[in-house]
Amino acid sequence: MSQREYHIVVLGSGGVGKSCLTAQFVQNVWIESYDPTIEDSYRKAIDVDGRHVMLEILDTAGTEQFTAMRELYMKTGQGFLLVFSITSQSSFYELAELREQIRRIKEDDNVPMVLIGNKSDLEEDRAIPRPRAFAISREWNIPYFETSARRRANVDEAFQDLCRQIIMKDQANRRHMREDAYGGNRTGRTPRNPKKRHRKPKCTIL
Ligand code: GDP
Ligand code: MG
Repeated sequence: MSQREYHIVVLGSGGVGKSCLTAQFVQNVWIESYDPTIEDSYRKAIDVDGRHVMLEILDTAGTEQFTAMRELYMKTGQGFLLVFSITSQSSFYELAELREQIRRIKEDDNVPMVLIGNKSDLEEDRAIPRPRAFAISREWNIPYFETSARRRANVDEAFQDLCRQIIMKDQANRRHMREDAYGGNRTGRTPRNPKKRHRKPKCTIL
């Protein structure tokens, strides 16, 4: 079977550690200062539960001039790391808008996502209490990880979890497509997008 490729997007305010997290995950290196304007993508092959997958990871820089660019990577992305810094309140509150945008653009309420509180090594400067972050992650129904790019703590775990979510969703989509192709649905019709199956406009007789 051919190796699957999945697109991951790393999102969050400037300075929360997106580039440092990405560099640690992809190259196992700690980079003290990264050019904040560099937006780039990286490839990394990983094993998740014995499954070999290739990840294409976009480290965003938030410098996009046009919202069209943001829309594009939100459309292409299959999983999102929503990163804030535990030392910055505003970085935490800005994630709500990003999450809404993703859900709106993808027209999907169950997009694979992980909430990340980075800089866990700076406990003395903590501005977001752990229970506060957990409460949001429960409300959003996504897992929460506290990471430290500096210490390379919980970095693999967060990416792995996201990858697992993407694989599960991909498998469910493929199952739907197979069922449709082999007449699994009794109507004999083959809806292309299983999510939109129930969105037929109702016919009202006036
Ligand atoms: P980005 O704008 O989100 O890509 O943020 P960067 O990855 O460029 O990091 C911004 C700053 O935060 C840099 O000075 C990093 O050295 C620092 N930084 C990133 N991750 C951590 C971390 O886990 N712990 C600490 N103490 N500093 C970090
Ligand atoms: Mg960066």
